[in-house]
Parts: sequence; C-alpha cells; structure tokens
Amino acid sequence: MDLANLVAIDIHTHVWRSASRPPDETDLEHEKSMAQYFRHAPPHATVPQMAEYYRKLKMAFVVFSVDAEAGQGRRGVPNEEIAELAARHADVAIPFASIDPARGKMGVREARRLIEHFGVKGFKFHPSVQAFYPNDRKAYPLYEVIAEARLPALFHTGQTGVGAGTHAGGGIRLKYSRPMYLDDVAVDFPDMPIILAHPSFPWQEEALSIATHKPQVYIDLSGWSPKYFPPLLVRYANTLLKDKTLFGTDYPVISPERWLEEFAKIDIRPEARQLILKDNAVRLLRLGGP
Ligand SMILES: [Zn+2]
Repeated sequence: MDLANLVAIDIHTHVWRSASRPPDETDLEHEKSMAQYFRHAPPHATVPQMAEYYRKLKMAFVVFSVDAEAGQGRRGVPNEEIAELAARHADVAIPFASIDPARGKMGVREARRLIEHFGVKGFKFHPSVQAFYPNDRKAYPLYEVIAEARLPALFHTGQTGVGAGTHAGGGIRLKYSRPMYLDDVAVDFPDMPIILAHPSFPWQEEALSIATHKPQVYIDLSGWSPKYFPPLLVRYANTLLKDKTLFGTDYPVISPERWLEEFAKIDIRPEARQLILKDNAVRLLRLGGP
C-alpha cells in the first residue's frame, strides 16, 4: 500500500455481492429495505469492483460483510472470499472478518484461522443484527483471539437501517447497539482497539464519553451524511477526539464522494481533517508498519 499516494482511508465499507455466489432472496430483501431507508439504490459491487472504484478516488477501504446467518438467515459474502480478493487488491483493500458470537467455539477457531492464514486485519460486529450484548461473556473467547493479535474490533452502534420500516423491524432490537456495553469490553480487553461505528443515535454522548475515557476506543463517522452530524460530535472531533475519530462511509449506502463533499462543508479544522481522513486510520491499522 502506497500510503503517500492515498488521500483517505475509509474504515467502514460493506461488500454486498459475492464474486462467486449469486444473491439469494434474503440478500435481495435486505438490499431493498436498505435502499428504502437510505432513499437511494446503492450499487451492488464485489470486492474487485470496489477496489477499482476506490483506486480511482486514491482511497483505501476496510471491507467486510456481516455474519447474519443465525439471526437473519442471511449469509453475506464469506470471510475467506473477502480476504482472498482483498489480498489481490492489497494496494487499496483491507479485509475485516465478521463472525457471529453465536457460533461459539467454531467461531473462535474460524477467527484464529482467518487471522493466521487469511491475513484479516480486524473484525466487524453488529450487535443488533447478531442479537447479543457486546459485554455478554459468550463473546469473550472471540475477543481474546482478536486481542491477542492486537487487531481492532469494530462495532455497529446506535440506530440501524437494517430492518427499518419492515414488519417488527425485521426482528432487530436496537438495545444491543447501545455504546455503554462496549465500555465494559474496553475495560476487559484493554489491548483490543474498539471502534464505535456511526454517530450513535440516540446515545451519542455515551459514545463520546467512552472514547474520551478509554484510550483504545475510537469513533467512526460512517452511515450518516456529515451535514446531519450532531454539533457535539463535531466539537469532539475537532478537539478531544481528533486523534480517535475516523472517516468511514458505510458504503454502499453512502458513497465516499458524497460523504467527502458534505464533510468539506462542516466546521472541522484542517489539522483534524487530515487526522480523521487518513492519519488516525494509518496508526490504528498499523499500515505504516508495526
Ligand atoms: Zn456497518
């Protein structure tokens, strides 16, 4: 990865299409409800297509799927496929894996295998989709593997577009994505960097408080158009948390072009801008070396 040539690192992108398996009906249903929630039809790109797109923008991107088999019956793109394709596009693609803690010991073995043999650089969790409290002890064996490798764990926090507007919200319970549960995890796993994804509506202040208090807790700005960022989040991103706030889009529901265009219009100081767009991610992901 030629860091000097990159303008930004998008810490939060989803791959919606497998390069090897056609979408099934749950994939299509999910895409339809997300399109309604975000009011546009997002592209359905594979990892190589995303790489081509991000390369043109001179950006790297962290890419993952969400393991939603247990709760949602949706397979997503396999971790191995993401890691293999990302390795072929290593100039721009950074693979994270997703393992539902409900997988128990098999999931723990899978995590180990993905780190050792597939070079994954972090893990994505979605407590609402995976229906678990992040501080539930059942997830701890998984965190132990991640912490041992000193890799970051990214957690969806706050409101989610998944299931929005569908019958019973698609069975999604928002409570699991309350940031405060991750304060527990931060105490129990001080060597595992934690990324609180998104402005954590309706718990923004919790997220800011945890990230201010726990050295290894970061916040990503994905999933929201910057023009709707709460003023308090902008204030912290400029000051106390300027070293721990990360650019992320939640692609494909928000495109990096649109995100950056709106980010340019909000009141973020130039020095914080550079940190948020690139430098903080370089340090967190150890892209410049160990
Ligand atoms: Zn996400």
